[in-house]
Amino acid sequence: MTMDRKEILHWLRCDDPKELEQLWRLADRARQQHVGEAVHLRGLVEISNYCARSCHYCGLRAPNRQVSRYRLSAEEILDCADQAVRLGYGTLVLQSGEDDRIEAEWLASLLRHIKATTPLALTLSLGERSEDDLRIWREAGADRYLLRFETSDRALYRAIHPDRGARVSDRLALLRQLKSLGYETGSGVMVGIPGQSYAILADDILLFRELDLDMIGIGPFIAHPDTPLGQAASPLPGETQVPPSIGMTCKAVALARILRPDANIPATTAVAVMDAWQGRELALRCGANVIMPNLTPARFREHYTIYPGKADRIEAAEQSDQQIRSQIKAMGRGIGSGQGGRKSGTQTE
Ligand code: SAM
Ligand code: SF4
Repeated sequence: MTMDRKEILHWLRCDDPKELEQLWRLADRARQQHVGEAVHLRGLVEISNYCARSCHYCGLRAPNRQVSRYRLSAEEILDCADQAVRLGYGTLVLQSGEDDRIEAEWLASLLRHIKATTPLALTLSLGERSEDDLRIWREAGADRYLLRFETSDRALYRAIHPDRGARVSDRLALLRQLKSLGYETGSGVMVGIPGQSYAILADDILLFRELDLDMIGIGPFIAHPDTPLGQAASPLPGETQVPPSIGMTCKAVALARILRPDANIPATTAVAVMDAWQGRELALRCGANVIMPNLTPARFREHYTIYPGKADRIEAAEQSDQQIRSQIKAMGRGIGSGQGGRKSGTQTE
């Protein structure tokens, strides 16, 4: 189904619940037809919270001295991989700040080991790394890479992504490199960052289609008090600024599904943090087909403080796994089996 910028803007601005039913239906039907009933579970491991960048929205930014920094050992990461296998997940997602101490060769040998000893697909989300590092990891067996472009508006992007000395931040350029290296490529945005207008969010959604993304991650912006954007008022007038709400996030998820019907789209952690009871379920009803349960050992998880509220949701992996499975079953949906990549199709358990 095609949808132009005017229609996208109409839906983003629509607040008539009856009319919005039509958007949820369109997105849910596109999800059913293109990726089916299976919800894929990916085990998320936050392998380091060291970060050399200073993104204006994120609690892990380098200048934030309130964070106790940690980096997992190879053994700790392998334990998480074993747990992902035990829980029946098809994919392990390794995420971190932009941490140069995660050396390319060190991680490559870990990736080779996981690929040789488990059936897991491997997704990396380690920030803006050099093309050499990305190639080494791809050759070692990494299948996918997640890097949100955060906003399609160049001026807003520049304002909230300071360079690292000579290392200019350019996530769009890196997404092109990732594709040419053969990664399944994921990107996305936050909904409601100060300075994001409806027009910008509409362009973000159109860019999902233009980039032909395999995975699209969309979550609400959650203000972190120890960051520049956690304190700043929006530079835009109230009626122009996109609110960082669950409702608006669901609209962006639905539109992403309609424009990129066969992409994998998670019900993100930020959605679950904003609405602990219903967040994930709402996203699954308007186009999402993936959940990423957190497998990071509890003693580290409380320090991966991208935004407030995340640490309140620390429960044992087995417990959250059971809750997520019952929630999916109660919705009449199945749990995906296999790796669940865009190119490897979907099956249900
Ligand atoms: N360092 C890697 C990167 O930036 O791609 C991966 C980790 S980073 C914490 C993952 C994502 O968290 C970012 O792409 C951003 O969209 C999201 N994020 C950061 N701060 C946030 C906030 N305050 N509210 C919601 N999401 C946030
Ligand atoms: Fe670092 Fe990623 Fe946070 Fe930016 S978004 S400060 S790169 S962890």
